[in-house]
Amino acid sequence: MESGNVVIIGGVAAGTKAAAKARRENPDLKVTVLTRESYVSYAGCGLPYYIGDVIREEKELLVKKPEDFLIDYDIDVITGIEALKIAPEEKTVTAKDLSDGAVREFNYDKLVLATGASPSIPPVKGKELGNIVTVRTLREAFAIKKLLRERNIKKAVVVGGGMIGLEVAENLVHTGIKTTVVELAPHIKWLFPARRTRLCWRAT
Ligand SMILES: Cc1cc2nc3c(=O)[nH]c(=O)nc-3n(C[C@H](O)[C@H](O)[C@H](O)COP(=O)(O)OP(=O)(O)OC[C@H]3O[C@@H](n4cnc5c(N)ncnc54)[C@H](O)[C@@H]3O)c2cc1C
Repeated sequence: MESGNVVIIGGVAAGTKAAAKARRENPDLKVTVLTRESYVSYAGCGLPYYIGDVIREEKELLVKKPEDFLIDYDIDVITGIEALKIAPEEKTVTAKDLSDGAVREFNYDKLVLATGASPSIPPVKGKELGNIVTVRTLREAFAIKKLLRERNIKKAVVVGGGMIGLEVAENLVHTGIKTTVVELAPHIKWLFPARRTRLCWRAT
């Protein structure tokens, strides 16, 4: 890649890997990662095990902190900022600082979108009520753990019997919570959990 200015939106697995690769390819590039979260480069696959107290320390989920990228790779990671608009003709990204609402503009020569996915919430009545959570980000896992600790939760329903739903269910059971999995399909997906965990940690 010729020298220039690379902006990456999203700072978890894909975004930070793209940033590190760009730096390895060209030490002269200016590389900036924008992410609306305060945590970057974390092991999403560990979240169910953190909820289940198998992983006890928050720091075990965090592969790198934002400042590590500056020190180790000369990559500027800006957290708590949400990209709102991309203008491809001008090659700019308009983003809002979530702490004070200030709007900033970033120029780029190359732009990488690594914005990931978001949970699909079924259109069911009452979905906005309390004690209903999704498991996608580290912040959500912290909130779930706090909920379990502070509200003395005894029963849980997990909507979705895919691998993540089942891992969450397995971990809720591990903490002593009576758990029911609700699945639309006539079957659930399953892979032996210990094997999945090992695969996950190797990948990160
Ligand atoms: C509970 C759970 C368990 C999992 N288990 C496994 C496993 O065992 N093995 C495995 O391989 N994978 C697993 N995964 C999947 C893996 O975590 C994801 O594939 C991986 O996190 C995807 O990384 P990503 O960088 O593409 O996206 P994400 O992790 O979604 O990161 C995207 C980032 O972009 C940010 N962003 C989005 N829009 C904007 C915007 N407009 N401005 C600024 N920032 C923005 C988001 O806030 C987020 O921080 C699991 C995921 C979860 C949630």
